[in-house]
Amino acid sequence: METSIVVLTRDLRVHDQPGLVEGCARGRVVPLFVVDEEIVGGVMGVPNRLRFLGEALADLREGLRGLGGELIVRRGSPAREVARLAEQTGARVVRIADDRSRFALRRLDALRGTGLDVRTYPGVTVVPPGAVTPAGGDHYKVFTPYWKAWAAAEWRTPCPVPGRVDVPEGIDAGVIPDLAPKGVSPGVAKGGESEARRLMREWLANGVAAYDGTRDDLANPEGTSRLSAHLRFGCLSPLELASAVREHEPFLRQLAWRDFHHQVAAAFPDLPRRDYRPRGHRWRDDPEALAAWREGRTGVPIVDAGMRQLRHEGFMHNRTRMITASYLTRDLGIDWRHGYRHFRDLLTDADLANNPGNWQWVAGTGNDTRPNRTLNPVRQSLRHDPTATYLHHWLPELAHLPTPATHHPWTLESPPPNYPPPLTHP
Ligand SMILES: Cc1cc2nc3c(=O)[nH]c(=O)nc-3n(C[C@H](O)[C@H](O)[C@H](O)COP(=O)(O)OP(=O)(O)OC[C@H]3O[C@@H](n4cnc5c(N)ncnc54)[C@H](O)[C@@H]3O)c2cc1C
Repeated sequence: METSIVVLTRDLRVHDQPGLVEGCARGRVVPLFVVDEEIVGGVMGVPNRLRFLGEALADLREGLRGLGGELIVRRGSPAREVARLAEQTGARVVRIADDRSRFALRRLDALRGTGLDVRTYPGVTVVPPGAVTPAGGDHYKVFTPYWKAWAAAEWRTPCPVPGRVDVPEGIDAGVIPDLAPKGVSPGVAKGGESEARRLMREWLANGVAAYDGTRDDLANPEGTSRLSAHLRFGCLSPLELASAVREHEPFLRQLAWRDFHHQVAAAFPDLPRRDYRPRGHRWRDDPEALAAWREGRTGVPIVDAGMRQLRHEGFMHNRTRMITASYLTRDLGIDWRHGYRHFRDLLTDADLANNPGNWQWVAGTGNDTRPNRTLNPVRQSLRHDPTATYLHHWLPELAHLPTPATHHPWTLESPPPNYPPPLTHP
């Protein structure tokens, strides 16, 4: 009987967990999460995501206990902790999700450096980066041909939950530390596989069929799945979700976008730092405008509403992500990297592929085939929040205004005194 160590990273679930399933089929397993100081102490270790991570780990521990197992938690360097546990348990095999970020590849190298037999398994995306490629290239640069190849690719079948998880005796389970004691947004979503599966069930029953008509309706918070952070931490398998919505093309396409950015980031790991397609932009340096944008006081209601939602929930609707990003880069002329970092510091779903990939898309330095596209915030506001419900919710100082004027309060004879005039006149 073999003993293996199953290192969990951003696949915090017991469903569709190929490495765990194989480990359990071959013998005993040590399901391990290492709180890596390099991550939690670095730029990605921000309160909203650390809170989500802590909840996801607690839920995963419950899930594994329900199968007779345990989640072993350690703090420090993954390679060192794996080597220690291998010595303690006699394990020779390590199983880990295949992940192509620069950080993940370094971790993989370090694990291989322990001399153990390290095996990788799919699970972070539906179609792994590099599994579909265009003729003569290592990745797709444009979405539409990627989408066609992605949808036609052969997908594996999601794995069942292992019947039983046998963990060697005598291993200290370790404590899940409180990683985010302060600084968490008050309305941040709850993490964990149980919550992810509850949301998925609800979405499949009541949301997905109408998605094409609801996805841009800012007044309807249930018009999108709100599954992004769960996908980010792997509380939900993207493959399981995609397999369940294969008939719902508008929603399926969004999951393909997620994979698209992952394959771009795998081929161009500098995506969070460097222009993917440099176009000679000359960005403006304007610390005051940047601060107003971050704080949601630009005087353009739809921009401010989105930025306040972000600060309050660690989440922002996709439509307002596009509007706020366009406003920062196009109207204010400020470098997308400032916006990317602010989103990174607050979003529970931020990662190293979707966040910079989307920022570069909006800024015109990325994969958009129409890099000069600009969104007029007032027109967007009138179109996607015609009743001003979203605006009135996030901007209480405008809640008393009649609907049309809420979109552009500067046109009123006496604009509200406690709301700033617009930084630019859109
Ligand atoms: C400037 C900017 C930054 C963004 N940063 C992130 C980020 O850090 N992390 C992130 O997951 N998404 C990011 N997005 C994409 C998108 O806004 C979110 O995925 C979406 O709003 C999450 O809400 P939802 O789960 O309800 O999405 P739904 O509309 O229900 O979509 C389902 C899933 O598809 C995926 N998806 C949807 N749209 C996109 C997209 N444009 N790119 C990649 N995946 C997508 C997400 O995993 C999402 O959960 C960003 C978009 C913009 C414009």
